[in-house]
Amino acid sequence: MLKGRSAVVTGSTSGIGLSIAKALAEAGANVTINGFGDKAAIEAERAGLEKNYKVKAAYSAADMTKPAEIAEMIKTAETTFGSVDILVNNAGIQHVAPIEEFPIEKWDQIIGINLSAAFHAIRAAVPGMKARKWGRIVNTASAHSLVASPFKSAYVTAKHGLTGLTKTVALEVATFGITANCISPGYVWTPLVEKQIPDTMKARGMTAEQVKRDVLLAAQPTKEFVTVEQVAALALYLCSDAAAQITGTNISIDGGWTAE
Ligand code: NAD
Repeated sequence: MLKGRSAVVTGSTSGIGLSIAKALAEAGANVTINGFGDKAAIEAERAGLEKNYKVKAAYSAADMTKPAEIAEMIKTAETTFGSVDILVNNAGIQHVAPIEEFPIEKWDQIIGINLSAAFHAIRAAVPGMKARKWGRIVNTASAHSLVASPFKSAYVTAKHGLTGLTKTVALEVATFGITANCISPGYVWTPLVEKQIPDTMKARGMTAEQVKRDVLLAAQPTKEFVTVEQVAALALYLCSDAAAQITGTNISIDGGWTAE
């Protein structure tokens, strides 16, 4: 389905991004993965994509807080694979703290990685997509792009902002065969969720089990975590020709969370 296409997936050394990179590669796209982590483990993932899916895979170490590195990542992917047809803005971090104690540097970092990085990557990738008259921009937002939770001021702000960016871009590129959409997962069991448990325990005075049951899964009527494979399948669908008329929207995949 995506043979001959090239995809960049930010924050794809782990969790949802890695799963999306695998799904795109399985569909035939060459992929640039990005993110932090152990060098050998990242190289093993990159080589695994090539071996398992018979595509080309590259790794960019671009830091999503650095606009110049983001622009360079897109340029390098275009040079290496001839185009960037699919851009998945997925890198994200979380920090949980009451607003009056929220570290200023964490606010700046979350707005930078979860929101501004998408602007910089889209800005760099759109000219090529426009010239080729085909493109898919998929932004990993969150249920927190639609509703808030206490103690997540920066994250909720960034994710709400990402939906505004997505709608604006969708309108600007609508006649160029390019779509821009958000996907908004509820709680997916990944390192991002696991890491916020200790801070949530502190902020709410709860045990780890209570946080899982009474905070995380309490939000989801299905009482189940979303899986990374389910999120990847949705991203892949948005990259298909069947989804050519889906643009400027925000698709929930949250076990019913935002229906309440
Ligand atoms: P994760 O921690 O498993 O993955 C985050 C990825 O972002 C990693 O590859 C990490 O290296 C990368 N990253 C972090 N900082 C970076 C930086 N400065 N530059 C480049 N890469 C950086 O988390 P995840 O749960 O897979 O999250 C992926 C996305 O999904 C995020 O945008 C997150 O907000 C969103 N999301 C997650 C959930 C969930 O429940 N896990 C729910 C809704 C939305």
